[in-house]
Amino acid sequence: MHTINLNPVGIVKNNFDNPTAFNEIKAQPSTIIIYNEFAEALTNIDEVKYLDIVFNFHLSNNNALAHTTHFGDFRGVFASRSPFRPNLIGVTSVKLISREGNQLVVEGLDALNNTPVLDIKSSDTSLWPENNNATQLQKELLKKRPRMEIEKLIAKNDLETLMIKAAQIHGHFCPGLAMGIMAATYAMRELEAQSDGMEDLLAITETNNCMADGVQYITGCTFGNNALIFHDYGKTAFTLTHRDGNGIRVAAKPESQKVIRQKFTGFNQLFDELVAEQNHDPEKVALYKKAAIERSFGTLKLPFNDLFKVENVETDIPRYAPIKNSVYCSVCGESIMEGKELIVDEKIFCIPCRRYNK
Ligand SMILES: [Zn+2]
Ligand SMILES: [Zn+2]
Repeated sequence: MHTINLNPVGIVKNNFDNPTAFNEIKAQPSTIIIYNEFAEALTNIDEVKYLDIVFNFHLSNNNALAHTTHFGDFRGVFASRSPFRPNLIGVTSVKLISREGNQLVVEGLDALNNTPVLDIKSSDTSLWPENNNATQLQKELLKKRPRMEIEKLIAKNDLETLMIKAAQIHGHFCPGLAMGIMAATYAMRELEAQSDGMEDLLAITETNNCMADGVQYITGCTFGNNALIFHDYGKTAFTLTHRDGNGIRVAAKPESQKVIRQKFTGFNQLFDELVAEQNHDPEKVALYKKAAIERSFGTLKLPFNDLFKVENVETDIPRYAPIKNSVYCSVCGESIMEGKELIVDEKIFCIPCRRYNK
């Protein structure tokens, strides 16, 4: 067997110098001091709520493979959390309370004062029983009603969670997405609408900017399910309508951009500074990114009427998209939705094959 050498990355500080019942230690916060040479590994740790702390049972020496445990039963060390084990390694999941520089204050750690810390990881909470049970049940419900979670969030008017979820398709947070979330959630609640992506509810977007992704996510009227109609007007506005043509149009007020700009001056200043600078100071870039996120979530909290005007509208709705047969291109052999093919000299072509003469 070969030996593995481990270098501690930090040390635990608390009031427990001697072995003590683990639940007493857990009940008190502990501080973990990370050594300077590992400080970079703490980057963005503030964003993590649960951490696994890997540490060394530095006062343990008994390495028998089974013991009578704290609870009185006799167990192998691989089936227990005993501090007496072949490699004297402890792993405990903790909650990160706060961070100041290289110091982490955590709750739930059961390590003694001066315990060497070997590693810290962001906890994988996906297998925790409470999450797992919920996931199993949710999966079954979601198979029946895939938009169930979105509908609940709309009913609660939980714009923040809706935007976090919408950003999974949009990729970033921005005031445009925030405005799409606000406008679409308002319209869904106003029309008491539900969407199953079968063209009974339609969204008409007048822009293909960031707002349109918020509209698609919230309304369920998308590019792919034919319930999204796009007018390339370049206007921050959209209409949500039932198939009978009755709906509402929500449009950004002319002053909406100014309202957002005036509210988040810190962001504007950082933006101007970064544009003016040749070399971007990484610290300033980090601040800018943080301010951009704050501005996006802050936009959600602005009064709806400061940003939008609403009107009832009646719209001529196109008929349901017909179900079409497929025809096949004589060049590439790929299928083409009937009506989109080109026929030249009685031969069928797809548009790319004909246009680029493959
Ligand atoms: Zn965007
Ligand atoms: Zn082709």
